[in-house]
Amino acid sequence: INTEIFVIQDLVRDVFDTLSLKAKQKEIKFSIKKGCEAPVQVLADKEKVRQVLINLIDNSIKYGKQQGSTVASIYNLDGKTLLVEISDDGIGMQEEHLPRVFERFYRTDKARSRDIGGTGLGLAIVKHIIEAHGQTINVRSKPDVGSTFGFTLETVRE
Ligand code: ATP
Ligand code: MG
Repeated sequence: INTEIFVIQDLVRDVFDTLSLKAKQKEIKFSIKKGCEAPVQVLADKEKVRQVLINLIDNSIKYGKQQGSTVASIYNLDGKTLLVEISDDGIGMQEEHLPRVFERFYRTDKARSRDIGGTGLGLAIVKHIIEAHGQTINVRSKPDVGSTFGFTLETVRE
């Protein structure tokens, strides 16, 4: 872990830029949730958090719907912990899959049957990185409504 201080909104915008072409192909709009734009400093491994955001936002496109949207939200939980959420309005998942999506090579039947490419490693890597920071990740989802992945990070106290 190579810890540094950086502004999470700047990193989110950077990753939005990186994935903008892929999003454009499905006409998916990226945004930071209203009220969450004020810059917040975090203490974490920036390149590893970049990888987390790339994997989650890549999924939001892959499992997103045409003309859908991906929204990033940032909430200060208690002054020292930040919650970062990546939400989509895509295909979603049935409840039974949720406890297993962070396992290596696990892919839902929907992902496989729709011939969406992938190895099923993205979320296992995400979970590994977040846990290496001593933080947590969770998911909530509804079939045909969408999914939200949320992870915590350490913030720099003002
Ligand atoms: P890889 O990321 O290795 O290219 P992948 O996207 O299939 O492949 P993960 O990112 O680990 O693998 O995701 C695991 C599975 O969880 C996916 O195959 C898909 O079934 C489900 N999943 C992940 N993110 C979403 C999402 N935003 N909406 C719906 N299903 C999702
Ligand atoms: Mg993936």
